[in-house]
Amino acid sequence: MRPSTARALGLAAGLGVAATFPLPFYLGMGVLGWKQRWQIALLALIGLGIALLAVFVAMRVQRALGTVGAPQIVGRSARDWAAEKRRLQAMIAAEPALERWRDLVERWGHFDEAALMRYERRYQELLRHPLGAPYAEMLLKGDWRADEEIAYAAEPDRVVTCAHLAPIERDLRREGIRSAPVLHAERRLWTEACLALKRLAPNYELAGVDEEVYYDHPRDPGYVLIRCRGCDSAIDSRGGVRFPPEA
Ligand SMILES: [Zn+2]
Repeated sequence: MRPSTARALGLAAGLGVAATFPLPFYLGMGVLGWKQRWQIALLALIGLGIALLAVFVAMRVQRALGTVGAPQIVGRSARDWAAEKRRLQAMIAAEPALERWRDLVERWGHFDEAALMRYERRYQELLRHPLGAPYAEMLLKGDWRADEEIAYAAEPDRVVTCAHLAPIERDLRREGIRSAPVLHAERRLWTEACLALKRLAPNYELAGVDEEVYYDHPRDPGYVLIRCRGCDSAIDSRGGVRFPPEA
């Protein structure tokens, strides 16, 4: 049923009840000849009851037809997540190999079995990776780093952006600000630094480079993209670390 139809039917039901409003007055004053103050007050009270009943009936009908009421929450509720957490904690208690995830499960509100298994698989992968051991430790704290970032970190002189943006990239790396190639994108870096063209301008040659703010989500604070249009290369600024650092 369409919401407008359900609303109209609910309203009609309410009006139907409200239509009986004059009845007690007709019976009391017309038929029984009630004139005293308390009798009039009683009739007014009955009238009020009918009005409230009409509103109640309208709401019940609309709700029964499924148009009014709490909106459906998509995904899991807080109670579902809490139950999932208890289930994972029981799983971990029963499975010594999963003990390493106890703290993370405890700390993270939204973690389910599929995620736990994903982390465990990644953990095993990192242990087999020649450079993976420190990253496996980071993963236990919830810090997941992709192979591309691990490879990039292992080559401090490597740059992925074009010649015009590369000086910025080199300095970001020199400052030890977390940066990594954007996956599945050419000549694109993301960084935890907070970049702005006007703060970069005194230190770098930025002809042909512009700045663009974009939003992943309408409520996002917005991310800054420092882009070299000529080379289709960009640095995606997604963090709060001041750069260039203040003198
Ligand atoms: Zn360029």
